[in-house]
Amino acid sequence: MFSGNGKGKLFAGLIAVALALAILLGLQAWDRALPTAVIPGAEESEGLQPGTYTGTADGFGGPVSVSLTVGSGGKITNVSIIGDKETPSVGGAAIPTLADEVLEAQGADVDVVSGATFTSNAVKAATEAAMAEAAGAGAAADAGPKPADGNRYIPGTYTGSSKGFGGDVTVTVVVSENEIVKLTIDGSHETENIGSFAVEMLPEKILSAQTPNVDVLPGATVSSGAILRALKDALTQAGADLGSFPTVSEESGGVKAYESMDVDVAVIGAGGAGMTAAIKARQAGKNVVIIEKMPYVGGNTTKATGGMNAAETHYQAEQGIEDSVEVFVADTMKAGHNINDRSLVTMMAELSAKAIDWLDSIGAPLPKVSFSGGATNKRIHAPEDGSGVGAFLVTRFLQKVNELGIPVLYDTTATRLMTLDGTVTGVMAEGKTANYTIHAKAVVLATGGFGNNQDMIVHYRPDLLGTVTTSAPGITGDGILMAEAVGAGLVDIAQIQLHPTVEQGTSMLITESVRGDGAILVNQNGKRFIDELQPRDVVSAGELAQPGSYAYIIFDQRLRDGLRAIEKYVSTGIVVQADTIEGLAEQLDIDPATLAKTLADWNRYVADQKDPDFGRSTGMEADLSVAPYYAIQIAPGIHHTMGGVHIDTSARVIDVNGDPIPGLFAAGEVTGGVHGGNRVGGNSVADIVVFGGIAGDNAAAWCDGETIGEAAEAPVEPADTEEPLEGAA
Ligand code: ADP
Repeated sequence: MFSGNGKGKLFAGLIAVALALAILLGLQAWDRALPTAVIPGAEESEGLQPGTYTGTADGFGGPVSVSLTVGSGGKITNVSIIGDKETPSVGGAAIPTLADEVLEAQGADVDVVSGATFTSNAVKAATEAAMAEAAGAGAAADAGPKPADGNRYIPGTYTGSSKGFGGDVTVTVVVSENEIVKLTIDGSHETENIGSFAVEMLPEKILSAQTPNVDVLPGATVSSGAILRALKDALTQAGADLGSFPTVSEESGGVKAYESMDVDVAVIGAGGAGMTAAIKARQAGKNVVIIEKMPYVGGNTTKATGGMNAAETHYQAEQGIEDSVEVFVADTMKAGHNINDRSLVTMMAELSAKAIDWLDSIGAPLPKVSFSGGATNKRIHAPEDGSGVGAFLVTRFLQKVNELGIPVLYDTTATRLMTLDGTVTGVMAEGKTANYTIHAKAVVLATGGFGNNQDMIVHYRPDLLGTVTTSAPGITGDGILMAEAVGAGLVDIAQIQLHPTVEQGTSMLITESVRGDGAILVNQNGKRFIDELQPRDVVSAGELAQPGSYAYIIFDQRLRDGLRAIEKYVSTGIVVQADTIEGLAEQLDIDPATLAKTLADWNRYVADQKDPDFGRSTGMEADLSVAPYYAIQIAPGIHHTMGGVHIDTSARVIDVNGDPIPGLFAAGEVTGGVHGGNRVGGNSVADIVVFGGIAGDNAAAWCDGETIGEAAEAPVEPADTEEPLEGAA
């Protein structure tokens, strides 16, 4: 927690001393290190009800929460900010200043601290949420009937609403005199499999705790915050005194149970690779358990928007598309700067069509085939209805996991691989209510990459200090560390892919389709600087060379009308809009005449189908000429960690001496070698389905004592039937 008292500079000096002292004393976070200060003699102000109100938003490393104390005069008298997951030298260092500024501005209208945009924006959003609550409480406290003496509520049905991630979230509660009896949430706009998990999980927590002060769901703080604000709105209408509710935290407690279990295959991580492996091992008749550290499945897989690359598929054949395994391999090697492990790439390409068949067999078809960056032929396979491939697959994988009765230990973090004489014999894990020793004949590591572990990123790539990440919260490299601890070798570990179009305040990835459909990038001088559809690493480097190391992605109404993803960007509040190009330029602080010329030139290049400036030749089907015009400020963000644990084509983990570690398999972003120095869009999904399948099949075969080797024959044969326990080995 940090508290500000409005005496800016002097206090900032004191902070520096206090912070230094805190570090010296070994205190872990500023929340215990610094005093709380208040404004003496706070004056009367409009609309806010006395009390303490807290808002939360996603910061750089985790949630940032802002607590505002409103004095009896309706003025903010104290600001406390908790952001102990922020990088200490960047966002963490900005928190004291931000606390001061919020207090001084009496609200969220504060400047972004240079170099700490991410944390600053989180503080602003959290302050706005807390202010909304204080204002709502004020309005409600002044108005409205009160419950009968001794009762908490006026019985009835009440509906509250608040702004969530993708639009309004409404909560309807039925209350008796003293109890929330029923609670329903309409949050259909919330991101599938992230915010939607909050919609699914919070009601149970709230009903059992009977308070709106419950923990937000990690990774879904915006949706959770909106739900809890809407709930408080509804409860206030029911006459409740919001200050009277207890806070219930799951972290606070109790002695943990110890559990020991025996399984055939333990799968660590319930992203795409882990769930594929688990389903395959179960289809081969094995007793499987999945360990997942988050309260929900999906990991980074959920965020994949494009599709899955596959060659020589039946969908391509049916649509008259010519493609080959050889060209798929060549494209992947070329994009990866030829440092990829060719044997892994070849395996992925050869089995990709069978993997598509297997997805058909489990009810997850990807029939829409189109072009995508880095592929010579139409190769990327996507769901029929245009939905994002990741969320689509995760939903279906989870259905299959449940249908096959595979237990998932949620909120449970695998901490260590167990070994006996060099053979992996199981895994130890820590849950919220129990710790586990899981004895397993085979273990599949599918913990994803390390995009959300700043320390690891900076260790391998000091140049990326402070770079935002698009990775899900659980993606912290645990699997790499656990594998290393049992002797695994690492491959290409410093190869980290930056995605060029990431909005820095929200870490939201602006899909490549925006550029593919015709958007351009301009710098702060209003000028284009690159062929916008070059590979991700090239465009990212181009942006970093611009003034301020950022750019704007510019598009028009025609493009917005044709791309559903844009509505989410608009409702999140990251899009600047104007009726004219000049008006847009003014809002971006760009010279209007320069931006107008850039757009006019571009529209002429589209008409000529020739870009003499940067040689762009794709994404030029339509120009940018339909008002209104839009811009999003973007910069590169860490997107995919391409290096990782060394595996062979049988998904066996290979040790530092080049020998397989018996009993240990790995697949997906935790591994290295498939993508080399640059990953082609659509190849991560191919990677997780193909190698997740191989890992699951071979882990199952290993349990039966079969020899697993490089020459394993077609390990990803599709299951012939939908019978749960039959399938390929
Ligand atoms: P991939 O694309 O390789 O399948 P994802 O990022 O989709 O990887 O999924 C990885 C999953 O692993 C995430 O759901 C993440 O929360 C989970 N995970 C990461 N570390 C651990 C751990 N130590 N124990 C259990 N689950 C983990």
